[in-house]
Amino acid sequence: MSCALKVPKSCRALGLHHYRWSSMASASPNLAFVPATQPPDAVEVETLQRFVSHSQRLLVLTGAGISTESGIPDYRSEGVGLYARTDRRPIQHAEFVHSASARQRYWARNFVGWPQFSSHQPNAAHLALRHWERLGKVHWLVTQNVDALHTKAGSQRMTELHGCTHRVLCLGCGEQTSRFELQKYFEALNPTWRAEAHGVAPDGDVFLTEEQVHNFRVPACSRCGGILKPDVTFFGDTVSQEKVDFVHKRLTESDSMLVAGSSLQVYSGYRFALAAQEKKLPIVIVNIGPTRSDHFAALKLNSRCGALLPLIVPQ
Ligand SMILES: [Zn+2]
Repeated sequence: MSCALKVPKSCRALGLHHYRWSSMASASPNLAFVPATQPPDAVEVETLQRFVSHSQRLLVLTGAGISTESGIPDYRSEGVGLYARTDRRPIQHAEFVHSASARQRYWARNFVGWPQFSSHQPNAAHLALRHWERLGKVHWLVTQNVDALHTKAGSQRMTELHGCTHRVLCLGCGEQTSRFELQKYFEALNPTWRAEAHGVAPDGDVFLTEEQVHNFRVPACSRCGGILKPDVTFFGDTVSQEKVDFVHKRLTESDSMLVAGSSLQVYSGYRFALAAQEKKLPIVIVNIGPTRSDHFAALKLNSRCGALLPLIVPQ
């Protein structure tokens, strides 16, 4: 499909060839960060099957809940999310932009967490959605996740609403570079610096003390000397209007909406559920726990995405 609007470069264009994506779903789901839930029952499967069969142009919105089965914790899940387990909160955009020491702390943690964070594999839910796309069932996929797992699974008709940790953006000249390349610069600048990772957050952040980050050296943009930032929308920042308009256009072309693994607590994703409701599109939600749109969804399934979506046969 041709798009008049320019959308950000995909991770594919920026060095994700480091892995061979096609054959690498995790053999079995990692459920450490997934809230306990019952397996989907036959009625739920049949109802979702009917919904998907009737949809011709499905807009799919995914959130952190689809990646928890790949071993990446979300922020909000009851008992197992990062907010429930720790007092850590993600960095704020203004803090990153205005404070050199905040950036040093962020990048030191991100440097330590990167090898593990970047190695996470797509799970059965990501692969199911990729499969649906290839069969023409998914008109567009919108993800709130920054973990590149949809890209790794092979999805192409996709917008990464909040960017992707696999890309780095220069705040000075706007150049996008690969996070894998930045890791090499970090290693060259910090040949003797060592720290251990203790738990990785949804954005690749890990836990380090102030003392550990004190001597960590952060490179500037090699082209203009500007500040390097992950190409990710931090908390306190907003998604560009261009990107929001692009997704609204895809939604206008769609005939139904599936929300998978999101509580829709963040407005940047919730607005598309509201827009779908306004357009009177049927909305189905697959999420463990309540969401902000349960009351106007045509169907709400309290199931694990990786257990339910692969059972559906797109027709
Ligand atoms: Zn630059």
